[in-house]
Amino acid sequence: MSEMYRNAVEKPNDAELQISPVFARRGEATSLPKFSIPDDMMSGETAYQIVHDEAMLDGNSRLNLATFVSTWMDDHAQKIYAESADKNMIDKDEYPATATIEDRCWRMIADLWNVPDPTDTIGTSTIGSSEACMLGGLALKRLWQERRRAEGKSTETPNLILSAGVQVVWEKFCNYWDVEARYIPVTEEHLVLDGYELEKYVDENTIGVVAILGQTYTGLYEPVKEIAAKLDEIQASTGLDVKIHVDGASGAMVAPFCQPELEWDFKVERVNSISTSGHKYGLVYPGVGWVVWRNTAVCPESLIFHVSYLGGDMPTLALNFSRPGSQVLLQYYQFLRLGREGYRLVQQGSIDVATYLSSEIGAMAPFELVSKGDTIPVFAWRMTTEKRNWDLYDLADRLRMRGWLVPAYPMPDDLSGMIVQRIVVRLGLSQDLASLLLDAIKEEVTFLENLSAPIPREKKRQAFSH
Ligand SMILES: *Cc1c(COP(=O)(O)O)cnc(C)c1O
Repeated sequence: MSEMYRNAVEKPNDAELQISPVFARRGEATSLPKFSIPDDMMSGETAYQIVHDEAMLDGNSRLNLATFVSTWMDDHAQKIYAESADKNMIDKDEYPATATIEDRCWRMIADLWNVPDPTDTIGTSTIGSSEACMLGGLALKRLWQERRRAEGKSTETPNLILSAGVQVVWEKFCNYWDVEARYIPVTEEHLVLDGYELEKYVDENTIGVVAILGQTYTGLYEPVKEIAAKLDEIQASTGLDVKIHVDGASGAMVAPFCQPELEWDFKVERVNSISTSGHKYGLVYPGVGWVVWRNTAVCPESLIFHVSYLGGDMPTLALNFSRPGSQVLLQYYQFLRLGREGYRLVQQGSIDVATYLSSEIGAMAPFELVSKGDTIPVFAWRMTTEKRNWDLYDLADRLRMRGWLVPAYPMPDDLSGMIVQRIVVRLGLSQDLASLLLDAIKEEVTFLENLSAPIPREKKRQAFSH
């Protein structure tokens, strides 16, 4: 331990703590150890200031146009959050009111997604879509195993079919649960999984197909109904009955309000389960997600654990144990506060901002749009093939200097030569702020267009989309 550090944590005397102004006393005026817990105490005021100040070095979350996760909630929500931060979602016996509200929330969501029989369905809250997707995938795997065992067949080599553009959680699912991932490539002609050549991937070991409602790279929807129709054809010719999990992390909380005519939910018979992130377009702070199954028969009983609840039985299925109860209360708050009309208004407002931004950006000479932001309010663009002294990474860097986080990244595998830049519009990016963002983009593009030589390659760095 260095002398300097010893001095830094030497016990301040009472007078010093009382009198020394903030930033002029020990703790703030000295450097603290970063990888070992300090030996001594400090005042709460000092510790608060240090933590607060270091967190200040993060980007401004509202200007983070890379994230899908909610960065704004109203004052009432802040109050509920502060009041309920101490509640553990898993203590269903001790916090029966929160447990009841959780149950109501997933049933409201099941209803929103047109579950055929509200009395015969099962769902749960999770820490986010990742856990929800894992549970949906696990149910598909168990169903397949049970069917295979009943037929006396091998359960050694399950596979799952997904777009190369899936979110990383699906790679994790396949890795952690020993399922072969069969990726359908993303190409210029097929930017999403749309059923094309699906028959080449399906076999007797296929546990299911993942359809993404709101691809993270572009915001585009995978056409669940077309994928289901293709699976109908496959079943007609091969007898294989393959079900769908819809990863609706973003879109499952947008489509019901803004694209009510789109058929993607339980109305499509092949859809076994649907998951979403309550903390994306569910409009709640991170971490809450939801997953719902079509009926109890398609969620194998072996995945369910029974805990006692008010003397009764409470079925649970989850990977996590302890997690915050406050996010579930916040979800309920949003459902009550906004209602269907409020959700429609909020999401449509974000889509309007997204399509305004995309039409302006798409009209700029160096760019062409990959998506418009009219599905979920997320869109991406790329550079035209014309040679220039700069690229999208340079633009991302220039915008970052002004506080805006607008990532540039390559498309997945087969299209990795295609670099795109993406904006995720969320509640809180007003038309007014969006017009300031557009001004910044225009100014930086003008700056870059006036460069007389290319920016050296080695200076570039890659940002990630997710
Ligand atoms: C964000 C996202 C996930 C992961 O969700 P978390 O809530 O962050 O765990 C999974 N799939 C898609 C399509 C996503 O957009």
